Amino acid sequence: QKAEWEKLVKEATVSKDGQHVELAANIGTPNDLEGVTKNGAEGIGLYRTEFLYMGRDQLPTEDEQFEAYKAVVEGMEGKPVVIRTLDIGGDKELPYLQLPKELNPFLGFRAIRLCLEREDIFRPQLRALLRASAFGNLKIMFPMIATLEEYRQAKAILADEKEKLTSEGTKVSDDIEIGIMVEIPSTAVSADIFAKEVDFFSIGTNDLIQYTMAADRMNEQVSYLYQPYHPAILRLVKLVINAAHKEGKWVGMCGEMAGDPIAIPILLGLGLDEFSMSASSILPARSQISKLSKQEIEAVIEQLLQLSTADEVENYLKSNIL
Ligand code: PEP
Ligand code: MG
Repeated sequence: QKAEWEKLVKEATVSKDGQHVELAANIGTPNDLEGVTKNGAEGIGLYRTEFLYMGRDQLPTEDEQFEAYKAVVEGMEGKPVVIRTLDIGGDKELPYLQLPKELNPFLGFRAIRLCLEREDIFRPQLRALLRASAFGNLKIMFPMIATLEEYRQAKAILADEKEKLTSEGTKVSDDIEIGIMVEIPSTAVSADIFAKEVDFFSIGTNDLIQYTMAADRMNEQVSYLYQPYHPAILRLVKLVINAAHKEGKWVGMCGEMAGDPIAIPILLGLGLDEFSMSASSILPARSQISKLSKQEIEAVIEQLLQLSTADEVENYLKSNIL
């Protein structure tokens, strides 16, 4: 099997019936690039920038961030790189920010909520990203977007920094795509509204499942409720993909589900454009997709979405498609 995977390193990802999808990697630092290249990723679908801010006692400077982002886009040699702005809070703390303790950190002051309030943190990151955009194919993604106003506000701050940089004579790419993570049910349900204004979506199923099922993704006692194949999750994913495609926008997924061999056929059938996963899952996924017919899955997808439970979905897939 390993030998079969090796042959696919430089290949595109194409289903048995000739449909192309993009397989990208999730990374946490520029050091992960080696594994990304070795495993034949077609891009970076999620660069979690939190790690630049963690394990230290003060915020990283704009220049430090610029160097990291530049290293990643240059290392990817023109392939798409989706960089997510700071997603701190929830399970990821930054002791030096001395944020107040919260009763429900996952429902609290985190990610874009914090960044919009703390422009002293947000703006240097956006400047670093804009500067790095001149060195490759960089896309910017905002995490934990719940309302259109949040997206508009983040985008306006980005535009403001872009204008400042340009007037200072700093080179910034002119066609940076700007997208959002879909990881809050409100955003999934109103994806048609967002689709008119964003360039792309990336579905963050790790959080989307937790919020849809109201089951803490870290809590073993309720982990039985953490069900990627629950009809509610599949229907949300479908909603998001259809809404985006209607506006001519692309949709990725960067939660664990994107690399799950049981979920991959469903996601292919639903029309997901980009699958972003840990680098080690890419070659197995490419091999799996090469043996799947997208059309055949499309033909049964409605039936699949009418099933009543996650178990039924899983069993259906195992006996009919996998
Ligand atoms: C997600 O929520 O699915 C995701 C990719 O983000 P993170 O795991 O970093 O919360
Ligand atoms: Mg998340």
